Amino acid sequence: MPELPEIETIKRGINCLVGNKINNLIVRNDSLRYKISPTLKNDIIDKIIISIERRAKYLLLELTNGFIIIHLGMSGRLTLLNDKTTPVKKHDHFDIVFNNQILRYNDPRRFGVVIYTDILSNSPLLKNLGPEPLEKNFTPTYLMAKIQNKKSAIKKLIMDNQIVVGVGNIYACESLFHAKISPLRGGNSITANEAKLLVQSIRNILKNAIELGGSTLRDYQTADGSLGYFQNVHKVYAKSGKACDECGTIILEKRLGQRNSFYCPNCQL
Ligand SMILES: [Zn+2]
Repeated sequence: MPELPEIETIKRGINCLVGNKINNLIVRNDSLRYKISPTLKNDIIDKIIISIERRAKYLLLELTNGFIIIHLGMSGRLTLLNDKTTPVKKHDHFDIVFNNQILRYNDPRRFGVVIYTDILSNSPLLKNLGPEPLEKNFTPTYLMAKIQNKKSAIKKLIMDNQIVVGVGNIYACESLFHAKISPLRGGNSITANEAKLLVQSIRNILKNAIELGGSTLRDYQTADGSLGYFQNVHKVYAKSGKACDECGTIILEKRLGQRNSFYCPNCQL
């Protein structure tokens, strides 16, 4: 599943589209998470891309009169094609066509979203989202206020988009390892000092992943272009049964909510 760092990397990779006019929209399959609106083409055609931003895991393509919101769902990929004759593959559901380039969307599982909105704050997708983890307003004090009365597991809380956006399963597991906090602990058991460590860890882990992604950008812009998934070096994620790098204890895996959590029972208390 594409996570925040991948979306940030894609945002940077397609930033070269700013200033370009949309010539066409080709929809091959409109059955994404929400059916692609039949009015989308009219809403965006002949409009110029003013800016490209990211909010949580949404890409926001600002046009002269509104925004295209794109979410990659579970398995979406965006490819920027310089060769407009590139053959269409299975699951290539839509193309946004520019003068010299095509932004092509492929999504085998079809949980992605592409919608148009005049005013961003009107979009139900973006309402109720918590702060960005890399922005200044995600502070230890803020986090403490959100979790100190909650009995839910800390891992579920940091993955809650209303508390902080964009901390997916991998990054939640890794951040908790670096902060030496067990994913199973209740939010109300976290001390102020631990909240500080956790905020720092979340920021560092995401920043490192974005930097890693940045190094794949060059490939993205020249090649046939599947960007969006890069291998990070994980300490605990998907490492159950293996020895912890720090202490040699066997890493455990536990189902928490819908997701598997990986942690070192010795390093994380
Ligand atoms: Zn350990």
